[in-house]
Amino acid sequence: MHPLFIRYFPNQLIKIFAKPYVAGDNEDKVIKLARQIYLNNNFLSTLDVLGEDVKSYNDINKFVNIYFDIVRKIKKETIYSDTYKQPSISLKPSCFIISQKDNKGNLLVDKMDWEYCFDNILKVCNYAKQNNVRVTVEMEDRHWVDFTLATYQKLLAQGYDNVGTVLQTRLYRSQDDIKIFDNKSRVRLVIGIYNEPAEFALTDKNKMKDLMIDFSKILLEKGSFLEFASHDEKYIKKFISEVIIPMNIPTEKFEIQMLLGVPRFKLQQELVNGNLLETLDRDKVYKHNKKINFRLYLPFSQNWNDALAYCRRRLIENPNIVLYGLKNII
Ligand SMILES: Cc1cc2nc3c(=O)[nH]c(=O)nc-3n(C[C@H](O)[C@H](O)[C@H](O)COP(=O)(O)OP(=O)(O)OC[C@H]3O[C@@H](n4cnc5c(N)ncnc54)[C@H](O)[C@@H]3O)c2cc1C
Repeated sequence: MHPLFIRYFPNQLIKIFAKPYVAGDNEDKVIKLARQIYLNNNFLSTLDVLGEDVKSYNDINKFVNIYFDIVRKIKKETIYSDTYKQPSISLKPSCFIISQKDNKGNLLVDKMDWEYCFDNILKVCNYAKQNNVRVTVEMEDRHWVDFTLATYQKLLAQGYDNVGTVLQTRLYRSQDDIKIFDNKSRVRLVIGIYNEPAEFALTDKNKMKDLMIDFSKILLEKGSFLEFASHDEKYIKKFISEVIIPMNIPTEKFEIQMLLGVPRFKLQQELVNGNLLETLDRDKVYKHNKKINFRLYLPFSQNWNDALAYCRRRLIENPNIVLYGLKNII
């Protein structure tokens, strides 16, 4: 399907594809869902505010305030036994800066106020740290990587040990970027959602996924906390049987993450009840607790218009999601 075709999809149709993937249209709904999946299934969560392209300083302030609000609400929750188990927050740097783009949609990196962006991210991370909430600074397309990694390093250097970030295996540069991580890092490892030109990135998904295995070994050897984010059952099993079991990595050192709405419930249950690791540990060499921590990504928005605009943009960037949606429905 040509991506531009999606521009003409009516809102109702976008909503059909978007609904299973959106946790709700206000903070209370997402907090409630996080609580339910924790109590019912022992699933952890990370909460992300959906947003359209930021157009004004007002929009940016709105994002900062929603994140403050959500942190306050997480803090009030009493059911979580520790900071790790309570919901974390995930944020995209593009919510905290007015993006300048050329007519092809490429970011005009030199024309943007990165300092202002950093200050806003810092505000959220600082408030989150004061309230013992963990934050993940997410990775967007290749234009954002320098800033995002520099932000992550700067925050860590300033003592924000509540902050983690994301590494995308598809980008060639990640082979170098991985070197910045060490035993103080928390890294979400993904193949990357943004279609990038072959000049900058792998185009073969299997190669990206093979690198998920290679990169996870490197990160775990360095002592980083690893968040393996994928829905591919084959690769999740490969990760456990070829990395976790032979390296005897305790379950406190990693977790598996998936997006809300992608139907993998049986697999998710087997992760958290220990059955998957038990089955894959055929030679009985694994010495630790076999219950794997699993975190669900819960995106939410303050109203459906924001969510729909965001989902439409994501669908245009990655029309495969429409195909995923159809496949998941079937
Ligand atoms: C918790 C989490 C956080 C993420 N954060 C980032 C980030 O910060 N930056 C970034 O670039 N990428 C991020 N991603 C996206 C990631 O890079 C991949 O694009 C996505 O996970 C799909 O890759 P996969 O490994 O699941 O393999 P795929 O082969 O793409 O997917 C395997 C199967 O999962 C299902 N599926 C996968 N994705 C979707 C979807 N969106 N909707 C419906 N069904 C789907 C489909 O059935 C598909 O066939 C994140 C993913 C997760 C799970």
